Amino acid sequence: MSQIINDVQCPLLGRKIELGYCMDIQDVADNMIKPEVLEDNIPPEKYPICKRCPKRIDPTK
Ligand code: SF4
Repeated sequence: MSQIINDVQCPLLGRKIELGYCMDIQDVADNMIKPEVLEDNIPPEKYPICKRCPKRIDPTK
């Protein structure tokens, strides 16, 4: 049975977030979209946490 992932535990924010929001944060960390689209104000110094996060490749990790 395939597993549907809706929420991930985010090490950057320290809480569960929706997978769609995770992808938005990844785009911000990659400088693909403006940080203003996020509801959280994430300091750019924390972007490396997201860039190294295994959930980018597999959200179940
Ligand atoms: S990929 Fe980034 S936004 Fe998603 S869970 Fe990891 S740290 Fe959080």
